[in-house]
Amino acid sequence: MEFSDRTLKCIDCGLEFVFTAGEQLFFHDKQFKNDPRHCKQCKAKRTKGGPKVRPETRTTCSECRAETTVPFKPTQGRPVLCRSCFQKQLSKPKQAVEPIPIPGPSAVDVQVAAEDSQAEQQTLVEVDSIPGPN
Ligand SMILES: [Zn+2]
Ligand SMILES: [Zn+2]
Repeated sequence: MEFSDRTLKCIDCGLEFVFTAGEQLFFHDKQFKNDPRHCKQCKAKRTKGGPKVRPETRTTCSECRAETTVPFKPTQGRPVLCRSCFQKQLSKPKQAVEPIPIPGPSAVDVQVAAEDSQAEQQTLVEVDSIPGPN
């Protein structure tokens, strides 16, 4: 049986992805009846949990009271900032904070940097809401 690459649409993110001839052969071998419905990224997220899986704690921003989630357990009694309040903190002129790029996957680094300059304040950022490169 001959296979040729096909383009399918991911039901999760809506992106088109290639269902390669090799993969079709694999599906055929396994007697899978259905086409894959998720692109590789979404499949990786589903099966392995992906790099985004981390303990998440729901909390409330100390500044604007917005509900946010943080990638680790906030310390009791310490302020927690949502991303926008965190950015506001950074842009305050008085603080000798080095410009920190929009937090990417390295939220931990950002937090460390923030704690260095704001010794009294624990600053948390929500990274999952940042759109990825796709
Ligand atoms: Zn997808
Ligand atoms: Zn806030």
